[in-house]
Amino acid sequence: MIPYGRQLLDEDDIAAVAQVLRSDWLTTGPLVAEFEAAVAEVAGAAHGVAVSNGTAALHAAVFALGIGPGDEVVVPPMTFAATANAVVYQGARPVFADVDPGTLLLDPESAAACITPRTRAIIGVDYAGQPCHWDALRVLAGKHGLALVADACHALGAADQGRPVGALADITVFSFHPVKHVTTGEGGMAVTGDPRLAARMRLFRSHGIESDFRQREQKGSWFYEMTELGYNYRLTDIQCALGVSQMRKLPRFLARRREVAAVYDAAFAARPVVAPLARRTGAEHAYHLYVVQMPDRDAAFVRLREAGVGVNVHYVPVHLHPYYRRTFGTGPGLCPVAEAAYERILSLPLHQGLSDADAARVVEAVLASAGSLGGTNTP
Ligand SMILES: *Cc1c(COP(=O)(O)O)cnc(C)c1O
Repeated sequence: MIPYGRQLLDEDDIAAVAQVLRSDWLTTGPLVAEFEAAVAEVAGAAHGVAVSNGTAALHAAVFALGIGPGDEVVVPPMTFAATANAVVYQGARPVFADVDPGTLLLDPESAAACITPRTRAIIGVDYAGQPCHWDALRVLAGKHGLALVADACHALGAADQGRPVGALADITVFSFHPVKHVTTGEGGMAVTGDPRLAARMRLFRSHGIESDFRQREQKGSWFYEMTELGYNYRLTDIQCALGVSQMRKLPRFLARRREVAAVYDAAFAARPVVAPLARRTGAEHAYHLYVVQMPDRDAAFVRLREAGVGVNVHYVPVHLHPYYRRTFGTGPGLCPVAEAAYERILSLPLHQGLSDADAARVVEAVLASAGSLGGTNTP
């Protein structure tokens, strides 16, 4: 089966990890800062805070913005559940705004319609690897005094009108899960231009305690104080060594993902029954996912899996999950565009290790599946 996503590791990565295993610091040591600097630089942000996964990074962002009970945060439904869960962790309420039908990115007009006196922030998701309509969201945020968080777990290396993805929102979040652009096994990072927000997220990732063990060792002191309720969301030096090594390959990984996407684009251009998502002009896409919309998606899913093509569906709209229905009274009809898209979307295999032969096999299988679906693309 050709997987929809997977990591690409080589001997350099393995050597980098082995070196840490022979050093003094297995967890918070010098590699954490090195990895933070590498990601923050690519993201175009002054500060990076490495944490144990992308979900923890979202949680840290919501905490740092001071969001809590009684507050509302606007989120899109076309995302992984973690985007909304992070809001719930802090006792606030996620409010689902719909996406636009072409790109499936948060629709700024729908977001505007969701704003109430309780709204504190908007979390935009750079779905599939394409930056959201950040300019429109920034105007909206400015008008209502809201913070902007970018869930850019799909979009490391993306840019909008030449501005890198970490420079578009107040806090931007990445994941280093093995299917993402670079991996640390599990891992995440929040980047920001605001030193105050960075300091709050650093505090949050380590129990709300201001110093860490290494800093106290170096100062020869045992004293510390816990000033906030934080978590143990630290990322290890072992993982950060892998991250630093992987970050060196990011330009190559992005180039390969864009190459495969171009092969798919060319193959489907003449077959409107397979409709890739729309691209925003001026956006540099990072292609975490290559999503097409197809009629009779469920049949296509089964047929492609049978043909050894590991397609997937991203995502079940978050507001349709039983937890959200039960807890927040959400359900069908709340976000009709996302719900209609959900019936038709399919993620094709896309990762840096995908060979030309695999890409050709994917194309062939998708076209064969579309052919047997009758060649129309009307819902
Ligand atoms: C991967 C992902 C996350 C969560 O990241 P983890 O590292 O798995 O916790 C959050 N949001 C989106 C959109 C993601 O794709």
